[in-house]
Amino acid sequence: MSRSGPGGPNAVPRLDSPVTILRGVGGERAAQMERLGLRTVGDLFWHRPARYEDRRKFTPIRDVLLGTPVTVCGRIVAAGNHRFRKGTKSCFEFILEDETARLHCRWWNLPFLGKFYSVGNEVLVYGRPNSLRPRTMDHPEVEKIETGEDGSVHFGRIVPVYPLTEGMPQRTLRWIIWHVIDRFLSQLPETGPWRTPELAGDPAGALGRQEAVRKIHFPAELPEAEHARQRLALDELAALQREIQGRRLRLNLKAPGLPCGGDNRLMRPFLAGFPFKLTGAQTRVLREIRADLTGLHPMRRLLHGDVGSGKTLVAACAALMTIESAYNVAVMAPTELLAEQLHDVLTGVFGPLGIGVGLRTSNTRQEPDVGSKPELGSVWVGTHALIQKAVEFPRLGLVIIDEQHKFGVAQRETLLRKGNFPHLLVMTATPIPRTLGLTLYGDLDVSLLDELPTGRGRVRTHVRTPDTLPKVWQFVARQLEAGRQAYVVYPRVSESENDDVKSVTREFEKVRDALAPHVAAMVHGRMPSAERMKIMDGFREGRVQVLLATSVIEVGVDVPNATVMVIENAGQFGLAQLHQLRGRIGRGSHESHCILVEGERTDEARERLKVLAETTDGFAIAEADLRLRGPGELLGRDQSGLPSFRFADLVRDGNLLEAARASVRRELAAKAAGLTANPPAPASAQ
Ligand code: ADP
Ligand code: MG
Repeated sequence: MSRSGPGGPNAVPRLDSPVTILRGVGGERAAQMERLGLRTVGDLFWHRPARYEDRRKFTPIRDVLLGTPVTVCGRIVAAGNHRFRKGTKSCFEFILEDETARLHCRWWNLPFLGKFYSVGNEVLVYGRPNSLRPRTMDHPEVEKIETGEDGSVHFGRIVPVYPLTEGMPQRTLRWIIWHVIDRFLSQLPETGPWRTPELAGDPAGALGRQEAVRKIHFPAELPEAEHARQRLALDELAALQREIQGRRLRLNLKAPGLPCGGDNRLMRPFLAGFPFKLTGAQTRVLREIRADLTGLHPMRRLLHGDVGSGKTLVAACAALMTIESAYNVAVMAPTELLAEQLHDVLTGVFGPLGIGVGLRTSNTRQEPDVGSKPELGSVWVGTHALIQKAVEFPRLGLVIIDEQHKFGVAQRETLLRKGNFPHLLVMTATPIPRTLGLTLYGDLDVSLLDELPTGRGRVRTHVRTPDTLPKVWQFVARQLEAGRQAYVVYPRVSESENDDVKSVTREFEKVRDALAPHVAAMVHGRMPSAERMKIMDGFREGRVQVLLATSVIEVGVDVPNATVMVIENAGQFGLAQLHQLRGRIGRGSHESHCILVEGERTDEARERLKVLAETTDGFAIAEADLRLRGPGELLGRDQSGLPSFRFADLVRDGNLLEAARASVRRELAAKAAGLTANPPAPASAQ
C-alpha cells in the first residue's frame, strides 16, 4: 500500500479528509454540508440526530390522531398547486393513500415542491395531523422512497432523522453517514468503556466510543440511542472538566499564594464595633478564607449564600485581612448602583479604621484616601470600569467579585491579571443548580453561607391576577400607614410597542396616586446615577415610602423597614431573579409580603410562580428554573461562560457530570503526583 501526503490525489482517506472524497459528494453537496458544520469525514460522526423514527412498522393512515406526531407510508395518488389571491399565494398539495385511508399533505407558498413529488411516488410522511375531516397534515416532513438505494439504511429499523439544510434530502445525508460509519469508524480513536466506580453497572459507561457513535446514529432499539448519547456526553463533560481543573492545577504549580492572612489588629476592633454576632456560617467561612489567604496557592473561592445571608460582611473581613497585610483589594460589582452602595458601606466601616476606599465606575473616579496610614492596603470598589486597560493596581492582593454570575470568566481573569496572581473571592446570591455551577465554576472551592442572621421576619409570597390590583394597593397602603415601606417592581423602564408589559415610567403616576398621600419615587437604570442615589438615600432614610423600580434593585439594596414588594408582570422575570428581588424584603423583624401579579394563565406560568410561593430555598428554586426554562434562559443571555454541548444536557446529566468530574480529578491527581516525583527539567532552550 502506498501512502501519499494527505492532500495528494491518491491520499488514503482519513477522518480529516474533506467530505468531497466521499462517493456522491460534489461541490454543491459539500457546500450544503459546510452549512451544517460538516467539513471533514470525521465531522459526520458528531452530527447528532434530531430524533428517531421506528420504521419497523407504520401507523395505518386510518389510525392517525389529531395533534399526535406520526409517520405514515403510502403512495401519492394526486398532486398539484393551488393558486389564490391573484397568484400571490399558493398551496402545494398531494394526497397520500395506503391500504386503509387517504391523507392530505399541504405546503403554503412552496410551489417548487411540485417538481419533487408526483403521482405514483412512494413516500414517508412525518407530521401532526391538524384535521381529521379530511385527514390533513400541514407542512409535514417527507421522504421519498427510491428504488436502487440500500433499503436497509432507511427501512425496517430505527432510523435517525437529522437536522438538514436547504437542498439536502434526509435520506441522502442518512446514507452518507451510514457509509462513513461503515467505512471509517474503525479509524476513530477508541477510548473504551468508562471504567469509573461512579458508573459501575451503567449501560452508558459500558459502551466504547466507537460503539457509542454507531448507536447514536443507528440504534437497534431506542434506549441504545440514549445510552450512546450519555456515553458521548461523558467525553464532552470530561473534556471540559479537564480544562477547568487543569487550569487550576497549572495555577497552583506556577503561583505561590500572596501572604494576605493579616494579623487581626484591624479585625478585632472592626468586629467589636459590629452590632451583631457573626452567624455560625460566617465564622466557618471566614476560617476557610483565612486558611486560603495564608496558604501555599492563590485562593480561588466561590462564596455562595442566599440573599440576606451576610456575604458583604464576609467580604469586608477578607478585605481587612488583606489590608492588614499591606496588600490592596479590588471589589467589582455588576452595576453602578451596587458599586456605589458597596463603596458607601465599606467607607462607613473602613473609614474610621484609617483605610482608604476608592470608587471607579464609568462616571466616577475617586481615589482612595490613604493619607494617615500608608502602611495599610486600600480598597478600590467599581464596576467593570475596573478592568479597563489603563487601570492599574499596585500590590493587588485580593480580588472580590460580587454577583459573580453577572460576569463572564474572561472579565474575572482580566481583573486578576492586574496583579501577580492575587487571591480571588467571588460571591453570588443566585443559587445555581449544581450542574451549572460545576460547569461554570468547577475550578473554584465553594463556601456556603447556609444560615440567615437571626431576628428576620418571615416572608409570605402571594400570587395575584391584575384584576385584584385595587385590593393589592389597599393592602400596601395599610402597611405604609403602619410605618412600613414598599417596593413596586416592573420588568421595563419604558413601554415597548409590541406588547403590553408594564413599565415603571408609565405606571408611576397611577401608583403614586393610588397610594397618596404616601410619598412615592422611582429608580431605574436609565437615570443619572446621582439622581438615583438621591432617591435611594431618601428611601433608606424613610422620606420615600414607596419605591417603584426595575430590577436594578435586585441586588444590594438593604432597607430592613421595607416589608412589601409588589412585582407586576412577574412572569417576565426568571424564578431565580424573582427570588433575588424577594430577598430585598424580610430583612427586618416584621413579617413581609411579596405579591406576584401575573395575568398569564398558562400552566407553565402558574407552575413557575407557584414554586416561589411554596419555597424560599434558593437552590430548589434554581433547580426548578433550570427544569422549566433551561440553562440559557436561567443564566441570562449575557452569560458568556456556558459552553454549548452537542450531547451533554445540564438539566438531565447531573450524575454523568459528577462521574466525569471525579474521574478527571483522579486522572489529574495521578499526573500531578508524577510531576512532583519527577520535576521537569528547567526550560533552557528559550
Ligand atoms: P447578602 O448576602 O445578600 O449580600 P448582606 O451582606 O447585604 O447580605 O447582609 C444583609 C443584612 O444582614 C445586612 O443588613 C447586614 O448588616 C446584616 N447582617 C450581616 N451579618 C449579620 C449577622 N451576623 N447578624 C445580624 N445581621 C447581619
Ligand atoms: Mg450582597
